[in-house]
Amino acid sequence: MSEDKRFPLIAGNWKMNGSLRESSALVTALKAGVARARHAEMLVCPPFVYLTAAADWLRGSSLSLGSQDISERAGTGAFTGEISGTMLRDVGCAYAIVGHSERRTLYGETDERVAAKFRAAQAVELVPILCVGESLEEREGGRTEAVVTRQVEAVTRSAGIEAFGKAVIAYEPIWAIGTGRTATPEQAQEVHALIRRLITAQDATIAAKLRILYGGSVKGANARELLAQRDIDGGLVGGASLDAKDFLTIFEAAAE
Ligand code: PEP
Repeated sequence: MSEDKRFPLIAGNWKMNGSLRESSALVTALKAGVARARHAEMLVCPPFVYLTAAADWLRGSSLSLGSQDISERAGTGAFTGEISGTMLRDVGCAYAIVGHSERRTLYGETDERVAAKFRAAQAVELVPILCVGESLEEREGGRTEAVVTRQVEAVTRSAGIEAFGKAVIAYEPIWAIGTGRTATPEQAQEVHALIRRLITAQDATIAAKLRILYGGSVKGANARELLAQRDIDGGLVGGASLDAKDFLTIFEAAAE
């Protein structure tokens, strides 16, 4: 497996946080920090309403812009509250997070809907970041492998394995998101290796190049050992992505 081809990605999921002023200050600090390290890619995913402003702030930097969600609907129409992939492209997004566990658990997104969102992103050449991961109950019941396999295969079945040539997967155990309880590097690596095996079974070349991010209470203090794992190619970071210093420490660990 040619791991050197997997360029690390550190993505910040801001969720429903920040004001216009705070977001601008955060991007300014990140831009200054990123200029010093070029061996990884940094992505920020602000709330929808700040995307246009963020695209302006990011201009001239190497940072990428992404959305936290996307409508599965294409084109235009009477879909109140929805944001299409075309609109996201229009304001400068390159990535779209799909299937975040908060969308799955709080807003009832099913595997099928997540797959439709994944396809909607790719239809307009946005790179989907497909989030998968088990709950605490599922882990304790020994169902981690079954749950993650189901979530990944729902999308490979729907979008086709070739689609993973232009996608990212994020393994985010729900019990580690926003809880301060991180998966150990070994626990994370075990599931990342499972995900890569699932893709390898269908296309080894795509699997070798696929970036698989870990998410769940990643911080400056634990990033290095997580990122040192063979199948961990970056991070999807919530809370710590709102703190420029901490997020840059994570980024620098990936860029080393
Ligand atoms: C996330 O929301 O994707 C996430 C991983 O959050 P946190 O880093 O706060 O656990």
